[in-house]
Amino acid sequence: MSKPVAQDTDGTISGKTVLNIAHFNDVYQVSDQKIYPGGKEEIINVTKFASSLFDITSNWKEREDGSRDGLTVFSGDVFSPSTESSVTRGRHMPPIMNRLGVDIGVAGNHEFDFGYPQLKTLLADTRFPWLLSNILDTNTGKVPEPLKDAHVIEKAGIRIGLIGLVEKDWIATITGWPENFEHQDMAKIGKELSVKLRDPAGEYKCDLIIAVTHCGVSNDIKLAKALSALSPTAQAKINIASEHGVDLLLAGHDHFYWISKGVTEWDGYDLQTPHPDAKDDQGDVLVVKSGTDFQDISEVILTLKDAPAGSIRIKLIQEIKGKRHVTRGTTAVNEDMKVIFDHELKTVSDSMSKPVCITDVLLDVQAKHIRLQESLIGNWVTDCLRPAYDEALAKLGYNKVDGVIIDCGVLRGGHIYQPGFITLGDLSTILPFSDSTIVVEVDANNLWDTLESGLSRHPSPEGCFPAISGLRVSWDSRKPAGNRVLGIWLLGDSDGKLGPDGKPVLVDKEEVLRTSTRKYLIMIREYMYEGGDGYDVLKGKKLVITSENGQTMAALIRKFLLGAQFLNQKIQEKPEDRGTGSSLQLKNLIGDVEGQLQKWQSLPHLPQIRGLPSLPKPSLPSLPSFSPPSIPTHSFTPHAISIPSFARPKLLNASGSVPSLSDLRSNLPHLPNVSDSLPDVSDHAQKVLKGVVPAIRWLASRALLAAALLVGDHEEMGLLDAYERHRARVEVELMRADPNTVNNNLRLTLPTFFAAQTQSRQDVSAKADEKDAKINAMEADAEKALPVIHPVVDGRLKDVASG
Ligand SMILES: [Zn+2]
Repeated sequence: MSKPVAQDTDGTISGKTVLNIAHFNDVYQVSDQKIYPGGKEEIINVTKFASSLFDITSNWKEREDGSRDGLTVFSGDVFSPSTESSVTRGRHMPPIMNRLGVDIGVAGNHEFDFGYPQLKTLLADTRFPWLLSNILDTNTGKVPEPLKDAHVIEKAGIRIGLIGLVEKDWIATITGWPENFEHQDMAKIGKELSVKLRDPAGEYKCDLIIAVTHCGVSNDIKLAKALSALSPTAQAKINIASEHGVDLLLAGHDHFYWISKGVTEWDGYDLQTPHPDAKDDQGDVLVVKSGTDFQDISEVILTLKDAPAGSIRIKLIQEIKGKRHVTRGTTAVNEDMKVIFDHELKTVSDSMSKPVCITDVLLDVQAKHIRLQESLIGNWVTDCLRPAYDEALAKLGYNKVDGVIIDCGVLRGGHIYQPGFITLGDLSTILPFSDSTIVVEVDANNLWDTLESGLSRHPSPEGCFPAISGLRVSWDSRKPAGNRVLGIWLLGDSDGKLGPDGKPVLVDKEEVLRTSTRKYLIMIREYMYEGGDGYDVLKGKKLVITSENGQTMAALIRKFLLGAQFLNQKIQEKPEDRGTGSSLQLKNLIGDVEGQLQKWQSLPHLPQIRGLPSLPKPSLPSLPSFSPPSIPTHSFTPHAISIPSFARPKLLNASGSVPSLSDLRSNLPHLPNVSDSLPDVSDHAQKVLKGVVPAIRWLASRALLAAALLVGDHEEMGLLDAYERHRARVEVELMRADPNTVNNNLRLTLPTFFAAQTQSRQDVSAKADEKDAKINAMEADAEKALPVIHPVVDGRLKDVASG
């Protein structure tokens, strides 16, 4: 275990002020992750990180109110991406951040991954303020509510002003960025806030200002220079006492650990470590960047001296020492955090049986199927992903993506999903990886080589086999690897036209020849960019949406499904009930979607649906027992997020081998028309069918897919989301429980409790009833609006050898 830096904890050394800070940034995965310090595998999670953090903060002087005399600062990116957040849309994080005792945070780019309405919900669950000082809501002329431009905290006997500054670079890549949020120059706002916060006649009277930033390191260094956050040695040459600005940058966004050369000394980090983006650091600035993902914490100790009387600044940093604390496999589990961690992971795991959509075709996700040929699941996933970054790309000055290529190794679980419900658990099983989807710019040769790589291992069912959208590829599996691609075409939108087979027609827009000179924007996975699954050709290609700015496939698919569900619900409502609160002009969008739907009316309806299983009853899982805390101290077994197995029976034919997809189809009983099957299905399923059939069947129409993703970014989903309903039921159960039986850590960190602390039992019970009624009312509505998906194999990846 790492020991804190030796220090005088009474806040002063020989009359000088000493301020203690713990800093971290960019944390994603609370559950087990592997790290390789010195090449050896170790397993850490947030319970170990908590021990590492509390080792630092518990050394700080205790104040009269029981709090510690130091600052815990977080520099952004916590709600996404991770395996858990693809399910929870960030909701498991506030209780964890609350328990970590964070004093102040800045909103990073990933805070916006699920849209601003969801971010507001998440921020309301945290017990500390969030900054975003240089973003202006043009509707109000202020920083967007509930974010703040500045926050003042008194520690070590001084008043510390905290401001949050973010670079412009990542804002353009946020798909759900509200139009009325305007970025303002970081240095300009930093100076303005310095004037306001340091004003001796003003309300704040700050002695010191710290900028909490979310920027790439080169922008941090520039900003530190512009705001005179100068090192003690630079201060000897340049007098900053009467310069407005800030005193120190505590920074995030980059995932590497980096400390500017100007600090006095740093334990556990070589200050001469070169970094290509940090060339402008000449030892003159003070910037601290603390790694990533619950792996690193910086312990920072500032020794402050008084500035000359009459200066603008009251205190100056005379000395800045620090230490890098690294979470290790051997770091002790913090038992208080483990209670919250277990509770959150159990809520996630118990929500897995909730349905998120209905497939009206059989989905075969077995490796031996999807890694050898074009598949329904591959087409569906890639079609859903394709419009995801179009809004961001437009803001960056690019066209829409030309195509999506993923390696089918990303599609997991190996099950066959019969027509019927797809659950949150199914989605997590099919898309378990937490790497980002990104966009690269490639030339024609790269595009050909990428597809040649993907097709090179056939007929071995390897993970590299591609699934594609936006492209048509003709290939020949009989030819030698590397020479199999016969032709590539970019596809246009089929605009509702169906072929004789009832499938949307493929419309070639443009042939891609090896000699073509234009560039192509292709959406891929971060894993492939790193050369995974043999895609070395993609390494080092120009990134347009980087992994830092991308989102996971699971999160994007979930966003799409929720958006689709939201649109389904609205379409089922009377036009006058559809609401006008949206910045999107929701009514117009719904009108457009209805127009799109008209084009698909000629499709045969739900030919294969039969015997939809009845929806799981909203049953409450048994809660962990919180009676006397008798948590054994040695029984912690590291476990990854436990996703229950949703193995569906694999359909075996008489010989015991798994039949082909077409066998399965012909073996399904009857394949009746929907009218035949209705009497057979449960009442509930009938309701769902009646509600959905006239609504949306989510085919490969780019306009429908784009509309759903857009809505998923901009609208409040609330209890429409199956996970949210489950979580709300767990909270109701906790509200009803005898408060004395609920673990104190949960009471202090769960929003249900800190909101209810001042209320009587009677009030809490009434609130629980009210919440229950809301969930029940929404349950029925939400299920009626479940999107029905209907992917097709349309010949976009055609092996001419298979006829
Ligand atoms: Zn970031």
